[in-house]
Amino acid sequence: MFARSIGEDTDIVEKEMYTFPDRKGDLITLRPEATASIARAYIQHKLFAQDAVRKFYMIGPMFRRERPQKGRYRQFYQIAAEIFGVQYGLADVQLIYLLVTLFSRLNLKDVKAHINSLGCPKCRPEFRKTLTDFLVSVSDKLCSDCNRRMDRNPLRVLDCKVPACREALAESPSILDSLCDDCRADFNEVMVSLTKLNVPYVVDKRLVRGLDYYTRTAFEIQTTSLGAQSAVAGGGRYDNLVKELGGPDIPATGFAIGFDRLTELVGLNAPDLIKKPDVFLAALGSKSQTLAFEWMCALGSDGIMAEMDLGNKSLKSQMKRADRLGAANVLIVGDNELKEGTAILRNMETKEQESISLENIVEDLTKKFSK
Ligand code: AMP
Repeated sequence: MFARSIGEDTDIVEKEMYTFPDRKGDLITLRPEATASIARAYIQHKLFAQDAVRKFYMIGPMFRRERPQKGRYRQFYQIAAEIFGVQYGLADVQLIYLLVTLFSRLNLKDVKAHINSLGCPKCRPEFRKTLTDFLVSVSDKLCSDCNRRMDRNPLRVLDCKVPACREALAESPSILDSLCDDCRADFNEVMVSLTKLNVPYVVDKRLVRGLDYYTRTAFEIQTTSLGAQSAVAGGGRYDNLVKELGGPDIPATGFAIGFDRLTELVGLNAPDLIKKPDVFLAALGSKSQTLAFEWMCALGSDGIMAEMDLGNKSLKSQMKRADRLGAANVLIVGDNELKEGTAILRNMETKEQESISLENIVEDLTKKFSK
């Protein structure tokens, strides 16, 4: 399935896929990416039956036998998202916009979308010819992989990472000059709406992505902060994959984020990403602790983030911890409060305190802190 969808002459299938017989001699392949499998599931379970338009996401490990280095691992994680059943370029724009918005919320700097169109089976053959003619003219400067791929899969040559090849390909023809009217109109629409949405992008004629199933818009989100491995996410449209895998003629588009690279960029200590408790329950004495523990669990089920110390520490130390966690409020309850049937609710920002009845404490706090 992977060889058929990703392509026989791709790095992934030719060099990187882990394929081996298991104990019973069945041939096993560790998935190198998610799209082919998601398309297979979409077909196998007839997920198009009620509504062809379906959106999916997945998060999980992928495996490629690459040379390990920073940002490139043999087991790595991807967050993938796919939209099936929409033929318009706006679905691609939606995905690119989602990525750029997500990355900007994560405070990533220097993030740019690189986009290209890979055309369709109508216009790509002509470009293949134009490109092959060009490649033949520079073949003596290209590496052996490129020379081998030139006939069978010339577009892949554009993707070669060997510096000498990149140099020789600087003047290569652009597929954008060979697009048919439909593909050109589609790509124009993509560019226009990216501009309207203020998404920073560059058109990159060399962007072909390493997989064969792509059609029309292909994209990568790149950053300058990652060194050699500049792509944090990549994706594109794959209008023929579902059909090629034996399903109906349904277009699709999707992306994969490199989770490892993303976490490296964001860093584990990005302060804005750490949720702060709505309320810290500072309970003094074992009775209060027992009650507060129940409240904390009940508040959690109501979607309120509550935290407490389970070790019956001093009020001072509990207040310190609440402060460290950035809790918005602290509820203080001890033996005296229990007797009176009230607790003290302290707003940590304004320092204002109020007395609050314990009778419906969970409901009352939930109402107060629900957003
Ligand atoms: P691809 O499936 O090759 O289009 O990759 C999508 C994204 O996954 C890339 O933009 C990278 O962020 C990430 N990625 C791909 N290969 C690796 C790897 N070997 N190690 C870590 N991340 C990777």
